[in-house]
Amino acid sequence: MKSDCHMHTNFSSDAPKSSTPEVMIRKALEKGLERICFTDHYDKDYPFESTNGELDESAFIFDPEQYFKTLCPLKEKYEGRLEVRIGIELGLQTHLGEFYQRLTEQYPFDFVIGSAHVFAGKDPYYNCHVQDADDEQEYRNAFVEMLEYVKAVDAFDALGHLDYVVRYGKEKALHYSYRAFADEIDEILKCIIAKGKALEFNTAGLKYGLGFAHPHPDVLKRYRELGGELLTVGADGHKPEHIGYAYDQADEILKACGFRYYTEFKERKPQFIKIL
Ligand SMILES: [Zn+2]
Ligand SMILES: [Zn+2]
Repeated sequence: MKSDCHMHTNFSSDAPKSSTPEVMIRKALEKGLERICFTDHYDKDYPFESTNGELDESAFIFDPEQYFKTLCPLKEKYEGRLEVRIGIELGLQTHLGEFYQRLTEQYPFDFVIGSAHVFAGKDPYYNCHVQDADDEQEYRNAFVEMLEYVKAVDAFDALGHLDYVVRYGKEKALHYSYRAFADEIDEILKCIIAKGKALEFNTAGLKYGLGFAHPHPDVLKRYRELGGELLTVGADGHKPEHIGYAYDQADEILKACGFRYYTEFKERKPQFIKIL
């Protein structure tokens, strides 16, 4: 695996200030990668509550002008050594379809990840261990809501970290399996296949101690079985040391799930790369 197509820089407010784009580029080179795609967070209307209890809905938004102004010179500077692509990770919500359509038409992104971070108006990242519902109900509700997001928004290329919510459950993966949520997950997979979107294989699940990357291998197998072919790969690093995280396992996991190719996007068009 010679590319990492999901990574953050300090344009994302949950990445440390020290994660500058150039620091990330240098580390990617050091790790022997050939291509990377920056995908900083853009979560419009994100329910972020600051420490003083005030709502800051722009907490996960960056200025696209500034983003391109910073990244384009780096793309040129490293040309021939590392191919740097410029993408974005959009936070999906049902009412944002038109807004994201305009945003992605306005700027020349290579790759757009659509991720669901907010469920029932909250990001489980900030709400772990305070949920009223049990994990099983929490996960089911999240998958049902994710399907609504995926139906409502067209302006993305790949659906990010499908079982993200499991990271933040009280007992994480204890009550999670593809089988337990097959009806809900199948609807999501069928919807992205019908829309011609990719599914993302995101190795951060291994970093969070789930014992699997996102999504679970049984979900990957099911996606393949349903005819899903577009699969993007990224480690979702917010710090340089997490670039290409667990890539030594990635090829084997994907092959075991029936994939012989993975997909990268350049100028929003898919390219297929053989898994060796
Ligand atoms: Zn994400
Ligand atoms: Zn991310």
